[in-house]
Amino acid sequence: MADIKTAVVTGASRGIGAAIAQQLVKDGCYVIGSATSESGVEKIGEALRDSGTGVVLDLSNVDSIAQSIEQIEATGKEISILVNNAGATQDNLFMRMKEEDWSRVIEINLNSVYRISKPFIRGMMRNRWGRIINVGSVVARGGNPGQTNYVAAKAGIEGFTRALAAEVGSRNITVNCVAPGYIKTDMTADLSDSIVENMLSRIPLGRQGDPAEVAETVSFLASEAASYITGQTIHVNGGMYFG
Ligand code: NAP
Repeated sequence: MADIKTAVVTGASRGIGAAIAQQLVKDGCYVIGSATSESGVEKIGEALRDSGTGVVLDLSNVDSIAQSIEQIEATGKEISILVNNAGATQDNLFMRMKEEDWSRVIEINLNSVYRISKPFIRGMMRNRWGRIINVGSVVARGGNPGQTNYVAAKAGIEGFTRALAAEVGSRNITVNCVAPGYIKTDMTADLSDSIVENMLSRIPLGRQGDPAEVAETVSFLASEAASYITGQTIHVNGGMYFG
């Protein structure tokens, strides 16, 4: 029987992260998913049943990050796959963007990737096997008005991915980025009709993506089939941007 790998997926309570957690379970992994609340953790437990569990993690709070890492380490499981998926937006035109909104978005989307990846890479180095998959965004390449904070964070994630891939490749750890386009989740649920219309007109496949379609790509990058792919950004965007 193939060994069961343990994956950590941040932001697994809903949207793309929930789909990734489900897909990795289908692939035979044990999944530890995070949510910001106890109710989110319960939701993860119900969705994953015996194949996973949830932990509370607030990426805007360094104490919460330290506590959840301790909790994950206390499970005694070796983490061989890490999916840095959790993300949040706080949009505003640049001239109106408050420094706290800038900092919060950089903290949650980018600084967290540094803080979460570091402890888990240690074990991957020891085991000479690891997969780190960072969830970026199409806007890191195309830009987007009103999102200077989020776009800067997502572009940072792509650079981080390439630099870390170059550092840890010799330990058989791959680091890649998956950049979703316009995907049907809570994050995109409140866009105005005119923004939706404009977005759909720019997507050759003519529709929003499904979280499962992003999860399939993460699943591939986490698998043995992707053993010679590292430092890449794979776009899952229906043709909205040709990288
Ligand atoms: P979503 O439906 O809004 O879900 C966000 C997830 O992140 C939730 O699990 C949420 O936990 C968690 N989260 C939010 N703030 C957090 C914090 N401070 N600390 C820890 N976890 C936090 O978003 P999504 O659309 O699935 O997005 C997932 C990833 O894809 C994000 O990185 C996003 O930037 C990226 N992305 C999405 C799209 C899109 O069109 N949807 C496009 C490009 C990139 P709770 O449930 O506890 O709040």
